[in-house]
Amino acid sequence: MQVPLLDLRAQYAPLKPAIMAAFEEISDSQRFILGPKVEEFEKEMAAYCRTAGAVGVSSGSDALIISLMAEGIGRGDEVITSPFTFFATVGAIVRVGATPVFADIDPVTFNIDPAAIAQKITPRTKAIIPVHLFGQAADMDPIMQLAEQHGLVVIEDACQAIGAEYKGRRVGSIGTYGAFSFFPSKNLGCFGDGGAVSCNDIERVKKLKIFRNHGQSSTYFHEYVGGNFRIDALQAAILSIKLKQLDSWSEARQRNAADYRQRFAAAGLTGMVKLPQEAAYPVRHIYNQFCIRVAGGKRDALKQFLGEHEVGCAVYYPLSLHLQPCFKALGGKPGDYPVSEQVSQEIMALPIYGETTPEQRQYVVDTIAAFFAK
Ligand SMILES: *Cc1c(COP(=O)(O)O)cnc(C)c1O
Repeated sequence: MQVPLLDLRAQYAPLKPAIMAAFEEISDSQRFILGPKVEEFEKEMAAYCRTAGAVGVSSGSDALIISLMAEGIGRGDEVITSPFTFFATVGAIVRVGATPVFADIDPVTFNIDPAAIAQKITPRTKAIIPVHLFGQAADMDPIMQLAEQHGLVVIEDACQAIGAEYKGRRVGSIGTYGAFSFFPSKNLGCFGDGGAVSCNDIERVKKLKIFRNHGQSSTYFHEYVGGNFRIDALQAAILSIKLKQLDSWSEARQRNAADYRQRFAAAGLTGMVKLPQEAAYPVRHIYNQFCIRVAGGKRDALKQFLGEHEVGCAVYYPLSLHLQPCFKALGGKPGDYPVSEQVSQEIMALPIYGETTPEQRQYVVDTIAAFFAK
């Protein structure tokens, strides 16, 4: 049996006629950038996120960058974020010239620990970027409280978490901005790169639209130095079609996660691997990833064993960001963020996409059992 980490073909098949029709319509119009398809998707995206507005952009990375730029965050400013996230969260901060400051993560949710944030706030702090990692919301109430106390902007990195909820509120609707990615492997993926920023403040939404088009407030008159952060009409049209199915896909992932829990327990494996835990606060976890932890230095051997038995798996993320060579100048050392460092050595993602079969999930569990029985 083979179980890929992700296979998007099954999800695409029933949507193919609608997507091909959209492709033909846009090809016939020869209007490829922004335009009515983008505006339509932005309305749907804002409704889905329960925000006043949403702005389509070129990627999740650019969603982060444009939010920082719109706030004028740059040289001399500090932005607090998690050391345990995809590179782009921290890359965006450095790209605008600001200084990333890390706060360690919570070992249950793998999300930034609000108590650790409090210790890192200085007079230079301008923003906090909590990441809703793997599809589960960070603990937003204490983060928003700190932000209000210190006058900080909050940019939710919701790139892995579209539709996730925190105490009944959608991610991306709680902070000042929400950054989303439509990279194909996210729960809502387009046919290339794409992203969006959600925002509840209409003035900021207007500013984001100016920033994504080189800061141009009317044709060839530039109010700001923005960038080319535009999304394609074709991507927006595909996203409009796929957004209607998103909840059913996320619910299938939730069912698969519950099913894994039963199968791991039935196989007597819960002492060998630690299954992902849901937060103590109420969440809607959308399981962009189902990440287990393997202690005792066995993670890499298990990963290799699964690979040999054609079970797809991946390590998100193998090196805490404060230890990355490109961030050496920030002065991070081993031991600075012990939870992030330990999790990076133990974590491993298993196939969780909606179309996996019960037989495939059982095969994943059986293969892990075979590894520990060796
Ligand atoms: C995917 C991702 C990004 C970047 O999104 P792109 O669309 O690939 O640029 C940023 N942050 C997190 C947490 C992500 O998972």
